[in-house]
Amino acid sequence: MKDWAIERGATHFTHLFQPMTGLTAEKHDSFISPTGDGKAIVEFSGKELVQGEPDASSFPSGGLRATFEARGYTAWDPTSPAFILESPNGATLVIPTAFLSWTGEALDKKVPLLRSMEALSKQALRVLRLFGNKSAKRVITTCGVEQEYFLIDRNYHLLRPDLLNAGRSVFGASPPKGQELEDQYFGTIPERVIAYMADCEAQLYKLGVPVKTRHNEVAPSQYEIAPIFEDSNLATDHNMLVMEVLRNTAASYGLACYFHEKPFAGINGSGKHNNFSMGTDTGENLLNPGDNPHDNAQFLVFCVAVIRAVAKYPELLRVTVASAHNDHRLGANEAPPAIMSIFLGDMLQDIMEQVEKGPATSTIQGGTMEIGVSVLPKFPKDAGDRNRTSPFAFTGNKFEFRAVGGSQSVAGPNTVLNTIVAESLDFVATTLEAAVAAGKDLNKAIQDLLSSILKESKKVLFNGDGYSEEWHKEAANRGLPNHRNTVDSLPVIVRKDTAELFGKYKVYTEKELESRFNILCEGYVKTISVEAKLTAFMGRNQILPAAIRYQGQVAEAVNATKAAGVEPAGSLELLKNLAATVGEFTKAIHHLEHELGHEAAGTVHDHAKYFRDKVRLAMNAVRVLGDKLETLVADDVWPLPTYREMLFIK
Ligand code: ADP
Ligand code: MG
Repeated sequence: MKDWAIERGATHFTHLFQPMTGLTAEKHDSFISPTGDGKAIVEFSGKELVQGEPDASSFPSGGLRATFEARGYTAWDPTSPAFILESPNGATLVIPTAFLSWTGEALDKKVPLLRSMEALSKQALRVLRLFGNKSAKRVITTCGVEQEYFLIDRNYHLLRPDLLNAGRSVFGASPPKGQELEDQYFGTIPERVIAYMADCEAQLYKLGVPVKTRHNEVAPSQYEIAPIFEDSNLATDHNMLVMEVLRNTAASYGLACYFHEKPFAGINGSGKHNNFSMGTDTGENLLNPGDNPHDNAQFLVFCVAVIRAVAKYPELLRVTVASAHNDHRLGANEAPPAIMSIFLGDMLQDIMEQVEKGPATSTIQGGTMEIGVSVLPKFPKDAGDRNRTSPFAFTGNKFEFRAVGGSQSVAGPNTVLNTIVAESLDFVATTLEAAVAAGKDLNKAIQDLLSSILKESKKVLFNGDGYSEEWHKEAANRGLPNHRNTVDSLPVIVRKDTAELFGKYKVYTEKELESRFNILCEGYVKTISVEAKLTAFMGRNQILPAAIRYQGQVAEAVNATKAAGVEPAGSLELLKNLAATVGEFTKAIHHLEHELGHEAAGTVHDHAKYFRDKVRLAMNAVRVLGDKLETLVADDVWPLPTYREMLFIK
């Protein structure tokens, strides 16, 4: 490994890990060791490959480690290939690793993910054995991440403290043109952007990331990149690399790149679609329905197991996508609602309805697309339409979990998905094994089992418009949970049944769950706190001075006009409006600063509640008035780049 790396210019190596910040961390060491006689040799020991010992106390541990209990280990993950990271003045051998505390708890996002993949493999194999499959040794969960992002000219980025520090604009009036013309999605990619994309893709190929798709997204200056799917562990590592390369390459093209879930109000934010399936080590996709799914018992079993998992654990799935950032998206009619439901499409929906009542006997076929123009080729048509509004949709031969936020790691969502599906497969395998042992016909046992699961789980199936008000009412009638914000969604993590579930499949210990709960509560508070402080700063030190200066100019104009013997009707009205708005704005900033200064008592969760109910609302109130001032103050006096400029100058 050392020779390979050095031949390619590497001078250093590093253990790359994913602490619970949701980012990656690395510490570099050189291959050079002094020999004591004034010389040095190049060496890389087995121990250095397998194990590292970074200080664990400076990463969030959610209470797992106190500051003085610093010892942490990184452990080589041989299932995620090492790679060489080139930089202008040298190269580094990067070794993907897991990150654990001295006491053995997972301090990262990789360890629980790997544990969940093992849990699922074990249960899925039991089911496969029932179908007579003796050759598969492992079942691998697969994942393909479609990543959305924004690109803004870097000059604007540097002039906006909010974008620079929080990745989100906390002020900005709606531009005259937003995304209403729907002229951006799949539009021609601007030249500077395509040059940037090609550069990123070339770098990603060198790192072994199989990127494939690129296009314009719905919002102005929004784009998407998607790789070919891989096993969930590798796909998660690679998504982190995709984000890093996109972020780091932007500056060379005079751009800034954002993954934030809502960088700009009033237009779509960024998410990532987490495509999920399960496959055997012999290459069989277990969620591939084939041509006649009604006849494909094995497919039906795996598909129904996923449906059962989502129906049984919607709150666990919901909490994996919870963050202060993602609260702006979920349920905002651009991303799926916070209600977890499944879209199957007409063909599968029909089959599941048949299965519920008795054995399924037919599959709706798509037929041929008749275009009515003889020069165009005919092509086979899908049996059902797509549905963008569903958080969890069956798309051909995989499920697509679409509620994940643009800046989030997909490790959490996949860890939970794998675990709840493992629990479902365990239930299925246990029931079928018992039935077969009791002499029941396997097919009969499957039919009975699937029918009973569907009766219970069908409440989660929904093919209609997930954005509509009717669905919110209907979902409430069906008893589906709807946690509209992060703070409401978090408590499930520390519930007893959650600890039992994750304990049973050895994915998270109770302590590890508690630490995640603490980190998520703290993360919520910190995010809103930073945004609120930026709002107060920009309001008081940038917007207010500009508005007052302009107010002075208008006052002078009013006086001069009067002195010239002309009635200053327009300027006087503007002056009154300005003075009144400046007054309200000042009060709103005071109020925000007051709310920020208040010491919240109670638990971390109480603290998060306080930030949701007080600080966040006070911050939003300041924004409304700041944005109103933007529409009143002269463009040449306004101190910040506007949405009109940032989003449309490409
Ligand atoms: P769309 O925009 O239509 O949703 P894309 O083609 O942009 O689809 O992305 C689909 C993603 O799903 C890709 O990353 C693809 O590799 C991935 N994918 C395809 N098959 C599987 C599978 N069996 N398991 C996981 N992901 C898959
Ligand atoms: Mg998609």
